Amino acid sequence: MREGSLDAPIRHPIDWQNPDFYDEEALDAELRRVFDVCHGCRRCFNLCDSFPRLFDLIDDSESGELDTVASKDFKPVVDACTLCDLCFMTKCPYVPPHEFNLDFPHLMLRYRAIELKKGEVGTAARQLTETDRNGKMAGLMAPVTNWASDRRNGLTRPVMQSVAGIHKEAELPKFHGKTFIKRTKDTAPTVNKEAPASGRKAVIYATCFANYNNPDIGTAARAILAHNGVETEVVYPECCGMPQLEHGDLARVSEKADKVASVLLPYVEKGYDVIALVPSCTLMLKFEWPLIAPENEKLKTLAQATFDVSEYIVDIARKEGLADGLSPLDGGVSVHLACHARAQNMGQKAAELMKLIPDVELKVVERCSGHGGSWGIQKENFEVGMKIGRPVFRQMADGGKPKYIASECPLAGLHIGQGIQAQAKEGEPLPETVPHPVILMAKAYGLSY
Ligand code: SF4
Ligand code: SF4
Repeated sequence: MREGSLDAPIRHPIDWQNPDFYDEEALDAELRRVFDVCHGCRRCFNLCDSFPRLFDLIDDSESGELDTVASKDFKPVVDACTLCDLCFMTKCPYVPPHEFNLDFPHLMLRYRAIELKKGEVGTAARQLTETDRNGKMAGLMAPVTNWASDRRNGLTRPVMQSVAGIHKEAELPKFHGKTFIKRTKDTAPTVNKEAPASGRKAVIYATCFANYNNPDIGTAARAILAHNGVETEVVYPECCGMPQLEHGDLARVSEKADKVASVLLPYVEKGYDVIALVPSCTLMLKFEWPLIAPENEKLKTLAQATFDVSEYIVDIARKEGLADGLSPLDGGVSVHLACHARAQNMGQKAAELMKLIPDVELKVVERCSGHGGSWGIQKENFEVGMKIGRPVFRQMADGGKPKYIASECPLAGLHIGQGIQAQAKEGEPLPETVPHPVILMAKAYGLSY
């Protein structure tokens, strides 16, 4: 629920196919209109680094108002936006249907789409977004890639920083030769026909992260679903396009949406639910794709059938009840609710999921960790991301109490694990970072995956 408004926010389609969308004067007028409202409002002062940059920029100007701020100085404000959507979804009382009609994140997106069109997005930054190509290549020689990308590797990481723009200290995900899709070809968990939810069918959209970087998220989710009577299929046509969205490449996102939807939709027509494993990707399927290609009817149907993985398991627990077999974990858990899960307006599903584990000692942290997909690993953003994340690192570490930490967003989880390590006092016990709360649920069920 947003602060200060009882109306559900409405989001307008993104008008990227209209040439006026790229009109720089119109963009500047809109930036000034929105920034002026934000400067007077300031509710979002602590959400991210965009707003403090904006407010300092205006406060430190000659008149203390927007009229004495040069438009070229807006860029750092835009650059600090991770497109987490929190200001729109949780804070802003001026989003449509309010007459001010504010959509701060989509305005940042428009700025980036214009930068992209003008050729102002660097090649290195764009190469980072090619998750399928990178995942396939890195997986072919996973041990070497993982050695080279380890942040303790003083030989390769400085080179990666100069060539690829990845900060040399940023923790990076590992790659696997045996992807989630390859693993599903070898084994399928036995479906428990006696479970209360038996009869449900779901198709799992593997997502690039679970497929190339952490297949355990997928296999654990599949094992839990099978134990609960859900028959699953797994598909991975390609990445959802979130990395391209971050750079304003809306045409690529639209293409990807159509390709992925063409594979998923036949399942929906056969009565399958759709489950996405990473909240950023679920947000794309549910909300961003239909706004980017509103004319594409497939996307609307798909959006209605899509669940985040935690949301789906909690849905089973509420409607049919979970299958027996959960036991307490061998230690406490801190769970982080990711921005892109919060932006789905579905409630605290990862926390609800963890509360299904008997006697769980749970700490829930609901605040931006400062990661923001590929944003937080870039050399110009990493330190800002670590600064934004400090309160999250402290709350998740919880004075050394939890045995496990998990974020719904596996990339945020890595960043939080790194932050906790950096902040830990000597001798303080460090929690184990697990890549997703479903791993802990599979553990509580005693399932192998
Ligand atoms: S979308 Fe997120 S990062 Fe961007 S301005 Fe809003 S709160 Fe800040
Ligand atoms: S986005 Fe909305 S809530 Fe946030 S500072 Fe601007 S006007 Fe205020």
